[in-house]
Amino acid sequence: MTIHSTEKLNLLQQQGWAEKDILFEMTCDLTTEGHFLDTYIALSRHEMLIATSLKSPDQEKTFKGYSLPVKSHTQHNTQGAEHWSIQTLKISDIESVFIVNLVASGMLVVKAPKERMIAAFTNGLMSKASRLTAIIKKLKQQEELDSELLKDEGVNASCPKCGRIYPEEGREVCPKCMKKSALFIRLLSFAKPYKTSVLLIIVLMLLSSVTTIVIPYLTGTALFDQALQGEGYFAGQVGLVILLVIVFRTLSLIFGVLFGIINARMAANIVFDLKSVIFTAMQRLSLNFFQRKQTGQLMTRVNYDSAELQIFFIDVLSYFVVNVMNIIGITVILLVLDWKLTLLCFLPLTIVFFLVRKVLPKLWRLSWRTHRRVSAMNSIISDSIRGVRVVKAFGMEHKEMERFQRANVNFSGSEQHYNRLSGTIFPVLNLLTHMGGMFIWAFGGWMVLRGEISFGLMLTFVNYMYLLYGPIEFMNNIVGWWSRCMTASQRIFEIQDANPDVKEKEDTIRIPVMKGDIQVSNVVFGYEPNKSILKKVTLQVKAGQMLGVVGHSGAGKSTLVNLISRLYDVNEGAITIDGVNVKDLAAESLRSNIGIVSQDVYVFSGSIAENIAYANPDCSVMDIIHAAKIANAHDFIEKLPDGYDTLVGTGGYNLSGGEKQRLSIARAILHNPKILILDEATASLDTETELQIQEALDKLIKGRTTIAIAHRLSTLRNADYLVVMDQGKIVEEGTHESLMSTPGAYYTLVKKHDEALKMSEVISA
Ligand code: ADP
Repeated sequence: MTIHSTEKLNLLQQQGWAEKDILFEMTCDLTTEGHFLDTYIALSRHEMLIATSLKSPDQEKTFKGYSLPVKSHTQHNTQGAEHWSIQTLKISDIESVFIVNLVASGMLVVKAPKERMIAAFTNGLMSKASRLTAIIKKLKQQEELDSELLKDEGVNASCPKCGRIYPEEGREVCPKCMKKSALFIRLLSFAKPYKTSVLLIIVLMLLSSVTTIVIPYLTGTALFDQALQGEGYFAGQVGLVILLVIVFRTLSLIFGVLFGIINARMAANIVFDLKSVIFTAMQRLSLNFFQRKQTGQLMTRVNYDSAELQIFFIDVLSYFVVNVMNIIGITVILLVLDWKLTLLCFLPLTIVFFLVRKVLPKLWRLSWRTHRRVSAMNSIISDSIRGVRVVKAFGMEHKEMERFQRANVNFSGSEQHYNRLSGTIFPVLNLLTHMGGMFIWAFGGWMVLRGEISFGLMLTFVNYMYLLYGPIEFMNNIVGWWSRCMTASQRIFEIQDANPDVKEKEDTIRIPVMKGDIQVSNVVFGYEPNKSILKKVTLQVKAGQMLGVVGHSGAGKSTLVNLISRLYDVNEGAITIDGVNVKDLAAESLRSNIGIVSQDVYVFSGSIAENIAYANPDCSVMDIIHAAKIANAHDFIEKLPDGYDTLVGTGGYNLSGGEKQRLSIARAILHNPKILILDEATASLDTETELQIQEALDKLIKGRTTIAIAHRLSTLRNADYLVVMDQGKIVEEGTHESLMSTPGAYYTLVKKHDEALKMSEVISA
């Protein structure tokens, strides 16, 4: 493999190791005492090298695990191997190697022959460490090393510039060191499909700027020095000058309006595209991604961040170009007219500029504080309204009042602070800005009296100066807008760039209609690295048969079916359907052949009919009704206010648990999959509803390969074969009769279940 760090390469060469012999390397980031310090580990076929850094912990990394910037890296390069304590171990001497999981870290322990800890690492490196142990085990047993284990992920798990661990393993994007300009160019690329609009906008912007910039000249020099004085091009033509002013003002207005309309339309389209991109990117991601993020956070990304970008595209980007053009244009005109007056007019503006830069961040912070405090106050109001029953039941009205009072005082304080500052600074800025005009009036007036410049020129100057204030104020605000836009786009691109854990191969195998033979062989799986939930699970379900999976809660039953439907990928072993590994199967074939009826049924906002037809939107009404009848759902649907058109889901009619479940059975019947997964499908229902559902399920199961996880063992009476799971392993398997013939795990479960049933009958009687 390629060693990316020259320092590590030097270190290895000094030990007589050649780069080509290295199979695997990793840098653990903790010492065995828990300090942040590097331990470098390299593996060849016969040896393992362990190099521990000899620096003092605080010299190398800060307490957050971020290494100090580049400086420390360059030091490394020059200092070479003398700063490492090095030891080598022969693979043949290692009896075993394993990882001990700690709260947010892990320890690598080697038994050779005495057990000792060789390094420790934070959780971000867990999967790499797991690979290291797997490789050593395979080397010891002289097994073939697959490419997945040896794959080179690139330079590092952390940013080489700031040392921050990348938020996502395998994707080298550091949120802190990300180049903002690259981000911006990428954002601009969203405007590509709207080339004509962009071109039109630029032309209109130019026209609008030119027509605006001409006016001060007309109302100053042209009117006073030429028309009224009877000299020059406009001599005596007052009417013409006024007419031209009107014409240019109208033109500038028309160009401005047109520009606004096209710009708003384009920005809305770009944001529309952005939202679609984020949403599509999210659909592509694996289940794991959604379980790690909060729903609210993701919704914010689609809505709030894209709204932030809309503001940027409409109010910032194009106006930025207009304003830059205006500032440059006006400054050039002023300089051409009179450079001394120009300098005079820019003098107070520079003070304004610096003052604004100093005060604005403070105002910005104060406004954020006010915003936070008003949110806190709002949540107290909403709490006490929604929780009014509890407040009243415990007689806590006075406590709530106190709580509100505190929040109110806080909010009012920060609002006053904000108002005081903004109430002082803005009049001062206004005064300073107008002082530029005063200077021109005073100095320019003096120059007019001395006959150095004309009155018209002075007026032109004053008018141009007022024209400059808007763009300059705009430029002052741009810093805040820019940073908010960059944060929003970074969050959006993070989703777009996220790697799905479950990837579809390029040359997938399509099986339009499967037979339904399932083989699970030696499957090991954990949601987190090195925490196996399933441990060497092997089972087989023949086409058309029903397998019942039983076991205590947390045994790994749902995990097993999640793997069969490839919501996650196995860590070791393989799952095949009709002899093809699910990793090689086209996702479309897999989804169309597998149906899941689970205990938590999600009802989408829409009508009952739409919900049943979710997987087959093109099916006919008759098909829907037919499926509902088989699912024993037709009767209750008929009784609903609008029958099959009754709206359900958020804000719609509330269905009971049993009704939802029958809806999902009808959904599965329409979907007509070859493989059916029933995950605790009849849990927590009353007996009558359960009977109805059981009956519907019996009809559904016919002719399909079924894997049923059931809490109520009675629902598994039709199963051809049963497996009992415990702590991620299959502890017993066989038919109901064979399992009941010996007092094992299944036997105990059935007995306990019967007792519980009897108890509940006694209680309900
Ligand atoms: P069962 O279906 O038998 O009740 P599960 O397969 O749901 O068990 O869960 C097995 C174990 O996996 C449990 O310890 C559970 O906490 C864990 N687990 C389930 N889902 C996740 C997840 N998304 N992330 C991390 N751990 C999980």
